[in-house]
Amino acid sequence: MKRVSTVAALRRELGKLRKNGKTVGLVPTMGALHEGHLTLVRKARAKCDVVVVSVFVNPLQFGPNEDFASYPRRLARDAALLKGCGVDLLFAPTAETFYEPDHQTMIVSPKVQSMYCGQYRPGHFSGALTVVAKLFFAAQPDFAFFGKKDWQQAWLIEKMTRDLNWPIRIVKVPTVRGKDGLALSSRNEYLSEAERAGAPAIRAALVALEKSFRAGERRVALLKRNAERTIEKAGGKIQYLEIASCRTLMPLKALDEEAVVLVAAFFGKTRLIDNIELKNRR
Ligand code: AMP
Repeated sequence: MKRVSTVAALRRELGKLRKNGKTVGLVPTMGALHEGHLTLVRKARAKCDVVVVSVFVNPLQFGPNEDFASYPRRLARDAALLKGCGVDLLFAPTAETFYEPDHQTMIVSPKVQSMYCGQYRPGHFSGALTVVAKLFFAAQPDFAFFGKKDWQQAWLIEKMTRDLNWPIRIVKVPTVRGKDGLALSSRNEYLSEAERAGAPAIRAALVALEKSFRAGERRVALLKRNAERTIEKAGGKIQYLEIASCRTLMPLKALDEEAVVLVAAFFGKTRLIDNIELKNRR
């Protein structure tokens, strides 16, 4: 595995590897890798000839009161894990080399970027889309891999790619969870023991909601209220819980198309997100 830290070096190395029509897969991450990330990497390894993983804690997607400074950084360990997965290229730039000192240009997706997570994290999705766009242009992958854990993010990236006609296939990978159902996240390590014990209620609430939906319940308000109660009983504080259209991501009043339940909840100071898809099976 080669490790590069500038776009020029990434392009140079990829130029050598891309010969003879080889396909390139890109897995963007912020590092502190866990099984969720590594599952994306293995999917990329299985599907593509050349696998590039980026590790970059992107300052543009953190708000002023968020955890940019304290976000876990462990590049040596990440590199060893990625090498073990058979990754060809690790792209780990610094903010100083990746962004122009007076970086200004941003990707915006005005409608959906300020909903759900975006309502509470102003600028977050614009920052995430901008870094992904930069990574796409730097690596020019054929496939790019994203986790469904960040459902809204994956939706926005897919939309950006389609809207701008970029020839990149977005592969969305199901969420990897702990045994108790909690979605793996680098932020889980912020949880105290008691908070960690309560947090799987998020998954339990979503699974119960989906079960109730499958049993025929279609009252959106009732489905939401029951799920909120489950999370609150376990000590969680709901930031939002919404049922949205998979197609448009707009909130649904009636469950007459494929939907996704999106939730963010605080356990202590730690904000956790999760989701579950609701599919009408006939
Ligand atoms: P991050 O490092 O948090 O920016 O995540 C990098 C990529 O890994 C994103 O596409 C995430 O959606 C994905 N990811 C993070 N956690 C998980 C998980 N538990 N299961 C599947 N994908 C994940």
